[in-house]
Amino acid sequence: MRPDRLNPLFAGAEGLKGVGPGLARPLEKLGLSRVKDIAYHLPDRFAYRRAVAGLDEGNVGEQVVVALTPLEYRSSGSSRAPFRVMASDGAGTICALTWFGRNAGWAKKTLPLGEKRWVAGKLDQFGTLLQMVHPDHVMEDGAVALGQLTEAVYPLSEGLTQGRLAALVAQALAALPDLPEWIDPGLMAKMGWPAWREAMLSAHRGEHEAARDRLAYDELLANSLALMLVRETGRSRRGTPLAGDGRLRAKLALPFALTGAQQRSIDEIAGDVAQEAPMLRLLQGDVGSGKTVVALSAMLLAVEAGAQAALLAPTEILARQHFDTLSRLAAGTGVNIALLTGRDKGRARESILMGLMDGSIDICIGTHAIFQDTVAYRNLALVVIDEQHRFGVGQRLMLTQKGRRPPHCLAMTATPIPRTLTLAQYGEMDVSRLDELPPGRQAIDTRVVALDRIEDVIGAVGRHVAGGQQAYWVCPMVRESETDDIAAAEARHAELVARFGDAVVLVHGQLRPEAKDAAMERFARGEAKLLVATTVIEVGVDVPNATLMVIEQAERFGLAQLHQLRGRVGRGAEKSTCLLLRGEILSEVARERLALMRESQDGFRLAEEDLRLRGGGELLGTRQSGDAPFRVASLEQIARLLPLAHDDARLLIERAKQDEAVVLTGERGEAARMLLYLFERDWGVQLLRGG
Ligand code: ADP
Ligand code: MG
Repeated sequence: MRPDRLNPLFAGAEGLKGVGPGLARPLEKLGLSRVKDIAYHLPDRFAYRRAVAGLDEGNVGEQVVVALTPLEYRSSGSSRAPFRVMASDGAGTICALTWFGRNAGWAKKTLPLGEKRWVAGKLDQFGTLLQMVHPDHVMEDGAVALGQLTEAVYPLSEGLTQGRLAALVAQALAALPDLPEWIDPGLMAKMGWPAWREAMLSAHRGEHEAARDRLAYDELLANSLALMLVRETGRSRRGTPLAGDGRLRAKLALPFALTGAQQRSIDEIAGDVAQEAPMLRLLQGDVGSGKTVVALSAMLLAVEAGAQAALLAPTEILARQHFDTLSRLAAGTGVNIALLTGRDKGRARESILMGLMDGSIDICIGTHAIFQDTVAYRNLALVVIDEQHRFGVGQRLMLTQKGRRPPHCLAMTATPIPRTLTLAQYGEMDVSRLDELPPGRQAIDTRVVALDRIEDVIGAVGRHVAGGQQAYWVCPMVRESETDDIAAAEARHAELVARFGDAVVLVHGQLRPEAKDAAMERFARGEAKLLVATTVIEVGVDVPNATLMVIEQAERFGLAQLHQLRGRVGRGAEKSTCLLLRGEILSEVARERLALMRESQDGFRLAEEDLRLRGGGELLGTRQSGDAPFRVASLEQIARLLPLAHDDARLLIERAKQDEAVVLTGERGEAARMLLYLFERDWGVQLLRGG
């Protein structure tokens, strides 16, 4: 149960003053549904204004606060023409305060003629006239105005203004409770960090690095703690030691020899599952590095040992693809493999459930449906989780930890992440890396092409498709305005349909899952030749015949993400090409990133370089696909503060160990529990003895 003290933070945003139906959508778009979300919506930057006594041309381009007296209203009557309030400063210099759209009524009310008002905004020029377009603030009180010299600038969505958002933030901050301290006092003192509540207030008030760091640290600490709790709980319970005799694996007729990295990973897994403590291992490897046979080998080991294994895929279509591949590979072994998805109903489903319960099914492949409460296994001892990168993994692991005897867990991911971030995202897991591609894999010919050559690119796609092959066209997806991004993808799709007919399909994040699957399947079957997609294809289906990929506005993607996308081609014997379409104006960093993409095909190296290049302040590449691992901590803060948080969490857990369980008690223990709830890592708390 969440501590009462946190209730005001978890109250709905709709309870704040001024939040009507009109604001609900813009807030939702920013993910601000509760008071806590708004309080944690930290400024992007701060605007600094100068108070000036009078205006002149020397102030043009500057952010100012100035006292003005409105003299006259000017409108042309047309609702599309701007509305102007002509106002004079103390010395008689005239400035036009200008609004576009339907703001005349509001402007007249706040700027009555002949009454002095304080106006804040950016001064510019319209012809010879000084003007301020959409001033940021109009205030009656000079003291208040001078308090606006430093102002937070928040990330916005359509329908929200800075003023509106600031007012909501102020209400949210007023509702902040005092919380007990969860950070080690020695560390607090050493870093000069303020207490939680003070840090929240400061972070909205100005550039207070210590405050921002503290808040980021909180988030990292919460995550480390939760992951460690999962691990500790697993350790303290007994799993099933699995000793396979190799008889099934011997019957696997693989058409190739395993790579060294595959063999090493298989050995590591075999070593883990032979223990009583449940395995928690992450298998990291680029797209195409051959994770599937490693998973199969682990599952066969479990079956040899008389147990069942399950493979969890993120989507139905991927589950089906795994089912087909594994059934084919394992055909000679005689194991019984079943597919279970949310789509299965009635008799078919009943018969699978029976098979899982009586043990006649050895290996079950499916979506999260395989862990529903109605699904009972006779003897499930190994779970493989495919492509559950990012935060999903903690929750997924939780699913598996419910039983009396928790199964061994192997999570697989193709997301190349730097070592520091591996720790952030997977915490206490052991890691096997497939850092070697199967032999004979051809490098993907990667080229950077300027956007003004898009016609040539479309022509090349046309020839490619006419030659019987398939292609991907990736449009960028950035969180700030999903609608715009989808509109752009739809427009591109329409244009390509006009050129190439209905052999072109579109997949994006707002499609219903069935529609998405249907389009993907048409492409996978080869009926559709060109797949236009936003980054949802990142976790994609294998289409060996797709040998060309175009990535639009490639400079907007992180390197790791580009690499992962690119890995979708180059799956077959044919040579593959990736065209990175770039915008006209590139920052130095973007230029360097694209050059690296051309040069390297090594996901781990690209991920490290990405971290180095993007460094301070810039957001994680993953955030672009709408799936940020952390909300408060920046990439730079993660790299700098995570090791501290990790050590601190470890200490806390060590001290809290009693017999074989972890019991968070005492002042700091209670505080830590509060922290877990605050950051909604309560799946960690649920594992604690006594809740
Ligand atoms: P991923 O890591 O992306 O899941 P897959 O397991 O799908 O990769 O493997 C990609 C392709 O490489 C498959 O066609 C698979 O059969 C093949 N493959 C896997 N291991 C080897 C190997 N050691 N030698 C040659 N081909 C391999
Ligand atoms: Mg795979």
